Formats: sequence, C-alpha cells, structure tokens
Amino acid sequence: MARLALLPGPGTGPEDGPVLDLGPAAPPSVHLPDVRDRARAAFLGLALGDALGATVEFMTPAEIRSAHGIHRELTGGGWLRLRPGQVTDDTELSLAMARAIDAAGGWSLLGVAEAFAAWLKGRPTDVGATCRAGIRRYLIEGTLQGRPGAWDAGNGAAMRVLPVALLTLGDDEGLWRLAVAQARITHHHPLSDAACVLVGRLVQQACLGRSLRHLRAGAEAAGREVPHFRFEPYRGLATGYVADTLQTVLHHLFTTRDFEGCLTAVVNQGGDADTTGAIAGAIAGAYYGPEGLPARWLRRLDRALVAELTRLADRLVALSPLAARVSDGAGGPPPVAGGAAAP
Ligand SMILES: [Mg+2]
Repeated sequence: MARLALLPGPGTGPEDGPVLDLGPAAPPSVHLPDVRDRARAAFLGLALGDALGATVEFMTPAEIRSAHGIHRELTGGGWLRLRPGQVTDDTELSLAMARAIDAAGGWSLLGVAEAFAAWLKGRPTDVGATCRAGIRRYLIEGTLQGRPGAWDAGNGAAMRVLPVALLTLGDDEGLWRLAVAQARITHHHPLSDAACVLVGRLVQQACLGRSLRHLRAGAEAAGREVPHFRFEPYRGLATGYVADTLQTVLHHLFTTRDFEGCLTAVVNQGGDADTTGAIAGAIAGAYYGPEGLPARWLRRLDRALVAELTRLADRLVALSPLAARVSDGAGGPPPVAGGAAAP
C-alpha cells in the first residue's frame, strides 16, 4: 500500500515529506499585496473566531440556542468570563509562535518552544491539558518533541499552525516540516500531524487566491487518505478531538457563503467552539479576505492586538519563499521548495 501522503509512517521524520497534493504551490500569477491582505485577514480571522467561540465553549447546540438564540456577536462571557472580544490560548499561542519567528528572522523551533514556555509561565486565561503537559516536558527535559501519545490527537497543535503556513508560503515541503515540528512540541500523534498540514495547506491555498472548489477538492482528497477527516455526511461533533474539529470546520466552510456565516455556523455547534472558530477563522479569513471580516466584530478586538497581528502577518509573508520569488504586483513563476523558511 502506498504511504499516506498526509501521515508520516512509523519512524519517519518531517524531513521525509512529501505532502497532500492540492495542485501546484501557487497559481500562475501571484499578486503579493493580495497575499498579504489575505494573510492579515487570516490572522485577524483566527482571533475573531477564537473570541466569538469562547463565549459558547463546552455548550451544546441546544444550550446555545436557549441562551443566545443564534450566537453571532462578540459578547465575551462564557465559562472563562471573558471581556467582549477577548481572545484565548488559540490566538495567544499563534501569536507566541509568530513573535518567535519575527525575533529570529526565520524559523527557530527552540525559539518557538521558549515562547510557549514564557506564555505558560505568564499564567494564561486558558491552557489545554496536552499543551500544558508538552510545554512542561520542554521546561523540565528540554526536549522539543514528546513521545507518541494516544491522547495527543487533540486540536491544540492545529489551532496554532497559521504562522508556519504564512512563513512557508511557496514551499510545500517546508510547510509539512514546520507544521509537524511545531505540533510535536506538545502533540505527537499522526492525526494531529496530518491536521496541521491540512489546515496549513488550506490557509496557503486561500492566501494564494484559490477557489473554494479547489480548497474543497484538497479537503476531500485528505479525507480519502485519512478517513477521520471526512466531513460529509457531517456528524455534528465539535469536540477537541482534532478529527471532530476539522469535520466541523470543513463542513461549514464549504456550506456557507461568507466569513460571518461560516464562523457563526461553526461556533453554534458548541463544543470546543473557540478552537473550531479559530481554525475556521484562519481559513475563511484568508479565503474571503479583509473585506469579509465584519467591522462590528473587528471593533471589539483590542486595537493593539489588531495592530500586532497585522504587522506579524506582513512579516511572515515577507519572510516566506513566495515573497522572495514574486515581486510586488508583477506576478511570477510558481515558487520552488527551499528558501527562507528552511530551519
Ligand atoms: Mg481557547
């Protein structure tokens, strides 16, 4: 049987590539300012989904209906008693990784682990159990990867994959390597690895202006390789198990027509709603672009956070192999592997 493209085989490392084939890395012509706009919208979209979903985290759809009707505003509250627009670990860990890349001027797995450790020491509002255990292991043992764990198939690594998706734009193999490397600081499970690669790839394709049909074809191809990721017929589960998380994100991404509709549908499934919201927000943000982000939602986010997410999105795109190959506005040939994102 052929080796699954999304799932690394036993004993194989990230260096073994290759990955899910969603077609060429970039359309024939890439307009870098448009990619930057979409990257910004992806990062803001992640924060919006996190803030929207956190209000209804751990609720069932029926509980949400009875408490909110349809939950569609950034009201804060929830079990974490958040301020309106306040974000949680999903955004904070993505931010920590992006800051570490920014500080290093490129990829540094050690820098990322250190940033996660500093974040945990800062007593964050919320920490998933697997993330906490993995960061503690790093602090105690200094290891950048734990042993494979049967309980590591949570969504905590996939929720923070956005920065490496932007950093490796134009480098398919680099995305695979970095998505998995960052994941294994806290999560070491083939489903988590595969989910990180798939989410990263969908964000990249959306940033490059690919159609929703193209994204769907890639997600369906992933479902043929990894049956856990099949999202139709949708089972309605939105737990922190990464397969449930991805099914929720993908089902609603492909059955809605705008950013607000997608995120509203996703978080009203309840469950791990801040994380399903964050992942959907990153992909849908990139796909629909800045114009798709509801202004009334953006106004609720902290202004300093918006400024930093925007700056870091620009920085990550600027560090990517794509930026090195495509001059502003000129388009260019499809990029090839390698370049600035190599660790
Ligand atoms: Mg969270």
